[in-house]
Amino acid sequence: MTGFSTTAIHAGQEPDPRTGSVVPAIYQTSTYKQDGVGGLREGYEYSRSANPTRDALQECLAELEGGTKGFAFASGLAAEDAILRGVLKPGDHVIIPNDAYGGTFRLFDKVHRPWGVEVSLAKVSQADAIRGEIRPNTKLIWIETPTNPLLGIADIEAVAAVAREAGVLLVVDNTFASPYLQNPLTLGADIVVHSTTKYCGGHSDVVGGAVVVRDAELADTIGFHQNAMGAVAGPFDSWLVLRGLKTLAVRMERHSDNAERVADFLLGRDDVTHVYYPGLDSHPGHDVAAQQMRRPGGMISFQVAGGQRRALDLVGATQVWTLGESLGGVESLIEHPAKMTHASVAGTELAVPDDLIRCSVGIEDADDLIADLAEALDRTRG
Ligand SMILES: *Cc1c(COP(=O)(O)O)cnc(C)c1O
Repeated sequence: MTGFSTTAIHAGQEPDPRTGSVVPAIYQTSTYKQDGVGGLREGYEYSRSANPTRDALQECLAELEGGTKGFAFASGLAAEDAILRGVLKPGDHVIIPNDAYGGTFRLFDKVHRPWGVEVSLAKVSQADAIRGEIRPNTKLIWIETPTNPLLGIADIEAVAAVAREAGVLLVVDNTFASPYLQNPLTLGADIVVHSTTKYCGGHSDVVGGAVVVRDAELADTIGFHQNAMGAVAGPFDSWLVLRGLKTLAVRMERHSDNAERVADFLLGRDDVTHVYYPGLDSHPGHDVAAQQMRRPGGMISFQVAGGQRRALDLVGATQVWTLGESLGGVESLIEHPAKMTHASVAGTELAVPDDLIRCSVGIEDADDLIADLAEALDRTRG
């Protein structure tokens, strides 16, 4: 097993045997010539079922997460849906965090619940609270860590023990950490899911998702549903994510360096009332994060004095930080979760504070990011 970056740059990506092309080709094809009926070349038949560019990405992701099989999808939510439809039947019960990506909660609550799946919420940072929600028909525990947008930390090993004890599957949404900072499969999880739109792609130019598993039977289930439901990653999207992965390690180091500095800056402001960042000693999940994550990552949320009005003014007042949804790109993004990414959970148990601001700290120069935030904070001070 090679180091992370060597794997990221080489796994699934041998130079092309015919031309020597160092970079895997974008096989922009729907179908493949057969040498006589059923005479498939290396198994390729139709690109929903398999495509060489997607295969390269899937192999790379599987190795980076310490799994055996990877599956690339058209979006993070398509990846999540393939897991849910693959392993759940009507009448089954799932436990999900009380702080989750809004789209994930919507998928559980508005799509799978009406089809007969029972859903309960538990505090993700408390393994005992999760254990307390287990029912005879529980099939799946779903956690996100760090969570979106409150940066809550789940102890993956502790929750994996709860799952094992109950004989249920543990899924970890590893989007915020990326495979560089954290590998849930090696901590006992059964399934890892990513929105590759975020850090894996890393350049805000692609929407994609991925699932990685270790178990052969689970791999068959996910693989079957990937093909049967068809929400696969296209060749060019696969290629973009594969390219993004090559620089994941250096990007995550820089995201973390910059975020640590921005968090310290925010902590020193008297008009910032709370800073959520797992790298801070004051964060309740700090010790667990330090154990299971290589670095604290690039996501920070904070609450600002002055309520929702000030928060909305502030996210519109920055110059270097771009007001926008999404995260994990090289450019810094700022947003207001209650009105943007988490609008779909307004009025539910997952509603977020209306003075909360979420920052995806990019890899620009930290001094510029801090100066821009300082100016916007000063300008919007009442
Ligand atoms: C964005 C995101 C998703 C959904 O992924 P899409 O690629 O937007 O479908 C899921 N989980 C987390 C934590 C996310 O940030």
